[in-house]
Amino acid sequence: MRPTPLAFAAVAAALSFSTGAFPGAAPKHHTTARAGSLGPAALRFGRSIGSPTEGHLLGGTHLEEAPYLRIVPVYAGNDVRWGLEPLVTMIDRAARQVRRQYPEAVTSVGHLSREGGGEIDRHRSHESGRDGDIGFFVRSAAGRQLLPSHFVQFRGDGTAVNWPGAYFDDARNWLLVSALVTDAEAHVTHLFIAAPLRARLLSYAERIGAPAAIRMRAAEVLQQPHGALPHDDHFHVRIGCPSHMSGCVENPAARAHRMVAGTHGRRGAPAHALVTPPPSRSPMTPPAQAPAPLPEEPREELPAPEPDVPPMSLPSSVDDVDG
Ligand SMILES: [Zn+2]
Repeated sequence: MRPTPLAFAAVAAALSFSTGAFPGAAPKHHTTARAGSLGPAALRFGRSIGSPTEGHLLGGTHLEEAPYLRIVPVYAGNDVRWGLEPLVTMIDRAARQVRRQYPEAVTSVGHLSREGGGEIDRHRSHESGRDGDIGFFVRSAAGRQLLPSHFVQFRGDGTAVNWPGAYFDDARNWLLVSALVTDAEAHVTHLFIAAPLRARLLSYAERIGAPAAIRMRAAEVLQQPHGALPHDDHFHVRIGCPSHMSGCVENPAARAHRMVAGTHGRRGAPAHALVTPPPSRSPMTPPAQAPAPLPEEPREELPAPEPDVPPMSLPSSVDDVDG
């Protein structure tokens, strides 16, 4: 039932678990597992060590581009496209699912983790192979998909903040969310998104008669993070620790006791105590209760670098993008 296996040409490269691609970003943890102790399948599956904000990734799978999946150009550098196999294949499966319903649809992916995991510039998390950024589907007034070179900010009314004529694509974005939260192999624990867009998507799902169980599940994981950028230009998806993965830490450590007044900000954001219970392992089980408060602060994604070229495939009337 698996999709075509993602190209995994980097097994040999992964054997070294090099972190050299990002000089100076040494991992905070040193694993006790060694490459030699992992067979090819285990190496491809990967092992998440530590938490999303303080951890690293042993082995894992590289996300490959496909006709239905592209890496957003401004995030293509430095090969930040590694993750646990369930995360990477989940993104691929979700993109395929959107494509099945909308034959021209292309899912736009930003950063996952770098090879070996560890710190990445402009991200608080993304360290342990369980996080990925996915750009929103963007459409023109006529309904055609637009493929900008970077993420695009949206208001709750569905209009792009800096791009007249570009709109939040409710149908494709909901289908993507639906695919992610019902994935059979990975369990999504968080899907960060700005509150107005969360409301917009859930409202759309209700309007089209999406199954209640899926809407409940989406409502549980779609959340605007606190103390971070609101995520009004992309989804940030996080999966839970796979069962029986020792060393994988579900949530970032609470920082409340270390919070210092006046340090609210991307690098000094306060954090809340951990209040979310461990997620269910069954992706299809409707949540038993209302969405829990966010357990942590991703504090990531400082503004993307200013693109030096206009978005691709845009009519001239809608090329004023500042994502
Ligand atoms: Zn992210």
